[in-house]
Amino acid sequence: NVNRKFHPDSTVVDIAGVKLGGGNFQIIAGPCSVESQEQVSQVAVAVKEAGAGLYRGGAFKPRTSPYAFQGMRAEGIKLLLEAKKISGLPIVTEVMDISHLPLFEDVDVIQVGARNMQNFELLKELGTLRKPILLKRGLSSTLEEFLMSAEYLLAGGNQNVILCERGIRTFETATRNTLDLASIPLLKSMTHLPVIVDPSHATGIAKLVKPMAMAAAACGADGVMIEVHNDPPHALCDGAQSLTPEAFQDVVKAINAILPHS
Ligand code: PEP
Ligand code: MN
Repeated sequence: NVNRKFHPDSTVVDIAGVKLGGGNFQIIAGPCSVESQEQVSQVAVAVKEAGAGLYRGGAFKPRTSPYAFQGMRAEGIKLLLEAKKISGLPIVTEVMDISHLPLFEDVDVIQVGARNMQNFELLKELGTLRKPILLKRGLSSTLEEFLMSAEYLLAGGNQNVILCERGIRTFETATRNTLDLASIPLLKSMTHLPVIVDPSHATGIAKLVKPMAMAAAACGADGVMIEVHNDPPHALCDGAQSLTPEAFQDVVKAINAILPHS
């Protein structure tokens, strides 16, 4: 059960030795999409040096337009695993379909994107695994719906679930989404599961990533997930919200200044 009433202790998810939750703050960083071995390895080494604990990269991309770059798919996962070897960082990547799951065997965290938050058959299948799942909040989902989707994973026996607030759809169009910061302390009171924030998709604007990442750390999030690209203007996906490795390093310092000192 996701309810904190029945499980007062915060869940700590162990990702190949990297702990997230219960006071363990983690920074997940990496490009929106895997584009080449050179790109994905270069960014992995850079974010590791800057202080990231986990590496993200999309191989299967849920794009609004069927004519947009769809990701490198199976090949992208191979390149990510190579970047993991080089950097030592565990990897997070999104699954879009049950039939692709065999490709995710060596992936450390399987991401369920916002668009699949209510793909109940996918959630049931992932519930049978014991691999950590990063579940992103649906584009227009209430917290109750978000938690019920997490419940599908736990109902199958998979307790290794990380929730991710990534902004919701509102009337405002100046930002890509509206970051629901209040959901962080609220979710944390409702559930024992760790809650992280994705300030990149929440805003869609690179310069807003730092203040929103700082706000996430200040209001009790268990981590952040930030898009970083070696050459944002030429990124195949989400360049406008992607940070350079230098800008990312600055964000890590700002977050560390806010986190309670251990
Ligand atoms: C992503 O993290 O790459 C992504 C597609 O995000 P979301 O599902 O939150 O839109
Ligand atoms: Mn993206």
